[in-house]
Amino acid sequence: MIELDAVSRRYDGGPPALQDVTLSVPRGQALAIVGPSGSGKSTLLNLLAGLDRPSAGTVTVDGVRVHELGEAASAKYRRATIGLVFQFFNLLDDLTVADNVVLPAWLAGVAKAAAQRRAAELLDTLGIARHARAYPGRLSGGERQRVAVARALMNRPALLLADEPTGALDSASGEDVRELLTGLRAEGQTIVLVTHDLRLADAVATRTVELLDGRVVADGTTPTGAAAIGVAP
Ligand code: ADP
Repeated sequence: MIELDAVSRRYDGGPPALQDVTLSVPRGQALAIVGPSGSGKSTLLNLLAGLDRPSAGTVTVDGVRVHELGEAASAKYRRATIGLVFQFFNLLDDLTVADNVVLPAWLAGVAKAAAQRRAAELLDTLGIARHARAYPGRLSGGERQRVAVARALMNRPALLLADEPTGALDSASGEDVRELLTGLRAEGQTIVLVTHDLRLADAVATRTVELLDGRVVADGTTPTGAAAIGVAP
């Protein structure tokens, strides 16, 4: 599903943000990327999302050579292939919850009735149907993150990318999001999760890659993740 081959990303004047990263992620794997601040986690996520280009190496996701995409093609790739969940939700405050969720489908040209049906199903599944007509500003952080996850799932993404999804939440809401992502993992959703939250990584991920100074310094199957899917660690 994901193939990174000898990927480096260098910003002008600084040390490399990523150095020679080679990584292969099969479909259905839930991968956590951990490491201290500045180790290259967001850079890696941005490359997978087609929001940034490597200085060297290749990035292939679901058969798409992401490093070769221009701006329009990468926007289309994101709509078709990627679901994105951010620390601070990134919802549009002047759209209702339902419209936030349906928006990616409209942008992808899905017929309105079908899109609305799918949005309603997702809101129901994620336990936020009663807020469909509310504006995000009226919701708690945990509820907003559920809306953001619903939006991310709207176009049935091959790859769900989550950047510190519990970073702005209290512990109870964080636990909700943890359960939600764990459930998606169990359903076979391919997930790449960047987090400082080791409980989240342990619960959701079946594999953890640690970055330091832009290099992979550890790569292993996580015991909890392995146990959770019934495989001996
Ligand atoms: P993390 O997400 O692990 O905190 P980042 O990927 O954000 O790390 O950053 C890795 C390195 O790249 C850091 O040294 C950071 O300062 C640098 N960096 C990230 N984005 C930029 C940018 N737009 N311009 C210059 N340097 C950047």
